[in-house]
Order: sequence, then structure tokens, then C-alpha cells
Amino acid sequence: MSVSSDILPWHDTAWQLLKSYISNERIPQALLLTGQAGLGKAQLVRSFAHLLLCESSNSSHDSPCGKCRSCILFVSGTHPDFIDIKPESEDKDIGIDQIRWLLSKIRLTVHYLQYRIIVVQQADQMNRSAANSFLKGLEEPPDRTVIILITDQLSLIPATIQSRCQKIVIETPTTDRALDWLNKNDTTGDLSLLLQMSRRAPLLAREYAECDAITIRMQLFEKFVLLRRKKLSVVVVAAFCCEHNQFDLVAWMISWIVDLMKINQTSSVVGVENVDLYDPLKILTGDLDLQHLYDFYLVALELHLQLKQPLNKNLAYEGFFIKWAAV
Ligand SMILES: [Zn+2]
Repeated sequence: MSVSSDILPWHDTAWQLLKSYISNERIPQALLLTGQAGLGKAQLVRSFAHLLLCESSNSSHDSPCGKCRSCILFVSGTHPDFIDIKPESEDKDIGIDQIRWLLSKIRLTVHYLQYRIIVVQQADQMNRSAANSFLKGLEEPPDRTVIILITDQLSLIPATIQSRCQKIVIETPTTDRALDWLNKNDTTGDLSLLLQMSRRAPLLAREYAECDAITIRMQLFEKFVLLRRKKLSVVVVAAFCCEHNQFDLVAWMISWIVDLMKINQTSSVVGVENVDLYDPLKILTGDLDLQHLYDFYLVALELHLQLKQPLNKNLAYEGFFIKWAAV
């Protein structure tokens, strides 16, 4: 079994670093993996955990043996020293009960010979009391315990937690590299548009291709324009957004607002991200004021952050679209 073949091309630098921790036998007790959504951060952490837990003394520190007790348990998803938590559902945060449970596991001795690995996915979703409790656990982790936090939203991780972790940033690949990977992985559709919609995150672009996100984007854009022309109600557009909340709709709208500001200033297509929407955007920007657009851009950024938290999404979208109709 080779794990290296599972390593995505844009993970290579981080993977070399993680492997060097193992080969030098200097594993940080707390790691914080960050980078935008859709880059496969959890997949990389699993590869690292698998390699770290492998018991084979012949391990070249490049890939797990695939035969030892640890490898078999890991692949079957039942390794007692690999503990992975995330929010229980999309509209829930990580609560203190989950963290208390996690900390109780940390205090137990390691079952096998290797390490205990604790992974917190979407670590930015820890609520305040959970984060405080987690911080206490970070202060005195037992030996041979590695805590790994994963987040798309580094700014939401408290500084007190960040300062105790070794930070690894997963870089977004270049467009060429991302296109190359999508082609090799048989992704079909308008790849350039899919990459633009996913801000060059290849796994997200592939997911978007599979669930026809391009159609949803066009439907949202039409509603975005009609709302501005007072031909559609805020309620209808907000309901549409809630229905398609699995997509990063606000990121798309932010890119439209940025393009509206660019076109408002120069009328040029140069630098416009949504090239396919240039004509309707140009018409739309005709009656918009640049300063008001900029103010609305800040509102959109705020909404983008808010939607990462558990809240009444319908109300949040309605408030946002009321402002859009009035820009
Ligand atoms: Zn093994």
C-alpha cells in the first residue's frame, strides 16, 4: 500500500514537512492546518495519521506498510488511537460536551505502540466555552499525543489557540496546476469557470461539476439582477439561497460585487473575474454608486463570515438582500 500516491500535487510541500517530523522523530504536539475549503486538508491529515500510526519498523517513513495491526484498524476506520471530531451537523457548532469527551480520551493511555492522534475538523466551529476547554487540554497534552486542528477560517481560531500550534498553510494551486489535476481526474464541464467559482480549489471545483453548480450560479445571478430591478421579492431569493446552501453562494456574489466595482470604475473587461457575465454586470453597474457598492461589499464579507456560524440563515439572507435592493 502506498499513501504517497494519494497525496495531491498541491500538498507536496506540506507532506514533505509532515514526513520530516516522523523521520526526525520530532512530532509537534499541536498542529493547525489551514487553507481555503476544497483543498483536501482532511485527506492530508488522514495520510499523515496513517503513516504515524503504522507499527512497521521497516517503514521507510514514506508510506504505511498496510499490513500491521494499526494499518488494518486504520483502514477499517476503527483505530482506537485515531479520534476525529467535527460539528454534528451543518447548523451546529462544536460544543463543550464534544471537547470534554475528547479530553477524556486524551487522558487514557495509548492503546498501541505508536501515537494517539486527535483531529478537530472545522475547528473554527468550536464555540467559546468549547474553545476555552480545549485550550486547557492544549496546555498539558500527554506524551505521544498529537492534536491536529483543521480550518478554512483561520481568523476565527482564537489567537491563544493559534499560538500553541505549529501552523501549516496549504496553498491554493495555480490555475494551470488545478486544471491539469481536473483533466487527469476526468472532470468535465467548463473547467475554467468551475475553478473561478471555487477560487481555484480543485476538489471543490470537481464537486461543483458533479452537482451542476454552474446552473445554480446562473439561477442565482438572474435572481440577483431581478431583485435589484424590484422584479422579485427578497423572500424568494433568500429561500433559494437557503435551499442551495451547500454551495458557497456568498463567495460567488462577492465576486460579482467586486466585478461591479471594477466595471463601474473602468468599464474594461480586463481584470474582471466573471467574464461570462460581463455584459449583464455592465448594465447592472449603470445606476450604482461606487461608494455604495463598496459599503455593500463589506456587508457581503460580513454575511460570508456569519454564515459559517450557526444562525437563522433565512433571516441573514433576507437582511442582506434588503440592503442589495437599496444600494
Ligand atoms: Zn503498518
